[in-house]
Amino acid sequence: MPDRAPQPVDRQLPTEESRDLIALVRDVVQGEIAPRAAEEEEAGHFPREVFSVLSEAGLLGLPYDSAHGGGDQPYEVYLQVLEELAAARLTVGLGVSVHTLACHGLAGFGTKEQQAEHLPAMLGGGLLGGYCLSEPSSGSDAASLRTKAVRDGDDWVITGTKAWITHGGVADFYTVMARTGAEGPRGVTAFLVPGDARGLTAAAPEKKMGMKGSPTAQIHFDGVRVPDSRRIGEEGQGFTIALSALDSGRLGIAACAVGVAQAALDEAVAYARERRQFGRPIADFQGLRFLLADMATQIEAGRSLYLAAARLRDAGRPFSRQAAMAKLFCTDAAMKVTTDAVQVLGGYGYTADFPVERYMREAKVLQIVEGTNQIQRVVIARHLAGPESR
Ligand SMILES: Cc1cc2nc3c(=O)[nH]c(=O)nc-3n(C[C@H](O)[C@H](O)[C@H](O)COP(=O)(O)OP(=O)(O)OC[C@H]3O[C@@H](n4cnc5c(N)ncnc54)[C@H](O)[C@@H]3O)c2cc1C
Repeated sequence: MPDRAPQPVDRQLPTEESRDLIALVRDVVQGEIAPRAAEEEEAGHFPREVFSVLSEAGLLGLPYDSAHGGGDQPYEVYLQVLEELAAARLTVGLGVSVHTLACHGLAGFGTKEQQAEHLPAMLGGGLLGGYCLSEPSSGSDAASLRTKAVRDGDDWVITGTKAWITHGGVADFYTVMARTGAEGPRGVTAFLVPGDARGLTAAAPEKKMGMKGSPTAQIHFDGVRVPDSRRIGEEGQGFTIALSALDSGRLGIAACAVGVAQAALDEAVAYARERRQFGRPIADFQGLRFLLADMATQIEAGRSLYLAAARLRDAGRPFSRQAAMAKLFCTDAAMKVTTDAVQVLGGYGYTADFPVERYMREAKVLQIVEGTNQIQRVVIARHLAGPESR
């Protein structure tokens, strides 16, 4: 019999440096993340200390410029790091993805002065970010957001409520989209708001189905004052910035989904080889062998799809359609693979004694965040058939 332990994913990586990076990530996962994941998720404990470790190891700014404290890594490498983190604990993998999303606006659209002042602490100085687009009454229709920023001398005064904010209440900074002009996408401006700004408060975290260690909360802005030097990009450019961040962020969600699915497959294979019924390991039964084969194929296909999109991005080519396809396919695949993993474990799969029920609960949220999978289809169809006529 070959070794029972799951083999690490055999990754295609472009450089020796990136191979070393994956080895470092696996060390951090084994030492700091995997041993406590199940227990802390059950207890709803947010592992802030893990993010400090990741920051110290240079893993919180991987796809950004090293001149500002980033890691200079291409997306094809950064995403595979996310996949490894998410396989160990989605709260951490998705947390790194959201932090990267929160840095995107300043790194891509900020002035040189803003970048020099803020990015080093954001990318490698231990800070953790949040991304504030959604509101209680605007989710998929994000351009109808109502949080307002009103000019007052050299300042802006922000008032309103953001909803569903990952790291809500624990983030050190938030990238916030607020209305500064007319209704619709062109009236939105982006701001970088400190987490301890006066007038900014977080509601109690939502009680979620999964990812219980990741705080998701409403953030209230009650006359929060920020100087104009914290405006990101031009007035009215905020929705463009938000969507640009989401194009890249969706690749992060796709990679996290593949990580969760891979973890579920590894568990299912190990269990199927161990568990005996009718005098044989259940892995002998063709009904289960074909299920496992389909799970593995979905995972490989998803990984290939997100990497193809990442390589387009790394080459400076348009990748928005491919990012939407990767997010859609990988997260649907993760839902199916994790559900099938529960099936492979039978009754035991339905208990908290094995991690597959957690993976199944976690996979569900990935079909919803950063644009539901219906919205991904809307995006893909627009690329194919143009905008809807009304
Ligand atoms: C755990 C978690 C973390 C999150 N983190 C963040 C965060 O950090 N920052 C942030 O800004 N937001 C965050 N979100 C919010 C998330 O992006 C929204 O939940 C998502 O965009 C959907 O919005 P909604 O929940 O208001 O659903 P709705 O927009 O109300 O959608 C309800 C249903 O209608 C469907 N629907 C809506 N419009 C269409 C359409 N045109 N065609 C077809 N179907 C449609 C949707 O697909 C969905 O099935 C988070 C959400 C969760 C659950």
